[in-house]
Amino acid sequence: MQPTSTELRFDVEKVRADFPILGLRPHGKPLVYLDNAASAQKPRAVIEALRRFYESENANVHRGVHYLSQLASERYEAAREKLRRLLNARDAREIVFTSGATDAINLVATSFGQVFLKPGDEVLLTQMEHHSNIVPWQMLRDRAGIVLRVVPVTDAGELDLATFDQLLTERTKLVAMVHVSNTLGTVNPVKQIIAKSHARGAAVLLDCAQAAPHLRIDVQDLGCDFAAIAGHKMFGPTGVGVLYGRAEWLDRMPPHRGGGNMIKSVTFEKTTYADAPARFEAGTPPIAGAIGLGEAADYLMNLDFAAATSHEAELLAYATEQVRTVPGLRIIGTAADKVPVLSFTMDAAHPHDIGQVLDGYGVAIRAGHHCTQPLHQRFGLASTARASFAFYNKREEVDALVSALHHVNEVFV
Ligand code: PMP
Repeated sequence: MQPTSTELRFDVEKVRADFPILGLRPHGKPLVYLDNAASAQKPRAVIEALRRFYESENANVHRGVHYLSQLASERYEAAREKLRRLLNARDAREIVFTSGATDAINLVATSFGQVFLKPGDEVLLTQMEHHSNIVPWQMLRDRAGIVLRVVPVTDAGELDLATFDQLLTERTKLVAMVHVSNTLGTVNPVKQIIAKSHARGAAVLLDCAQAAPHLRIDVQDLGCDFAAIAGHKMFGPTGVGVLYGRAEWLDRMPPHRGGGNMIKSVTFEKTTYADAPARFEAGTPPIAGAIGLGEAADYLMNLDFAAATSHEAELLAYATEQVRTVPGLRIIGTAADKVPVLSFTMDAAHPHDIGQVLDGYGVAIRAGHHCTQPLHQRFGLASTARASFAFYNKREEVDALVSALHHVNEVFV
């Protein structure tokens, strides 16, 4: 097959060479990794940074006076600066390292919730939220008496913006929503939503876990108040993530956890807290993870992102067209603006059976509810199969997916 114009511009084989795991052959077949929305693979630079840290830089941060502790502290703070650059935050103080996107959202629910949300105040969510942007708010509702409102999703998998306009009132104190849906692939019009929310006096938290691997997130341009990032989904290590928070908020928010590293002074009578971001980083932080994540941020900054994005768009268009040749297959999520995430059902087989047959061909997809049960209920489903792409995937892998899907029909019909 002739390479397409985008593949000529975006050298996918060169990029693939940066990801050692893509050379695996599960069950004797070339790995076709299409489970990127669950966790993305890591470039060699990230793996090397972790190895280097443990081999020659490892110590705890911010405590020691010795060589290694200073080195580890420098590397950790340098990683914070790399994340600041990637997200275009004004100040590195606005970058809090967390254990993931879930942890970042819980931080906001607990800390922002404690000070800025009163009984009866409304938090606006959407029907396409990941459980990690639903459950923390329900816990706060049960604790503090806030009211949750939910923006519905259309049949195409887009937000019902007319209903959003109705639900956004002077009672709304926070809009907490996903930037990009991990199940539908929908890219929400967040800039417009943020402007409207601010005009009504509501702050905005964006769950950018699925956006970060596909879009440039410029928090100043978007104007969001908070953004949650999952390290492992943007080609970084597991166990680390970021909360971006505007300094005006973080400076006024109380710590959500107490312990070492987050204090100025402690007596049994009274403790005073460190400034942000340390105030929100109690205990030993994920030092190696943060350093690895900084490397992933550099990798993304050095990538020809425009070419990578158009390669992804081409993969999505090709995959969407090709899976439609599979009898009985129905795509869930047909928004006009999508990242390459393709969820679907098949008449012939349950999503788990689809996943199992595909695994036999070396094709890794996800089957289940993808932590979006309310969204699946909206579509009358308990689960879907999901093929999710990254910039290192290629057209031949779409062909492998589609050929394996035809085999599913042969096995089950
Ligand atoms: N939000 C979305 C949209 C996600 O896709 C995920 C990860 N699947 C999360 C939040 C949770 O992120 P983490 O794994 O970092 O806790």
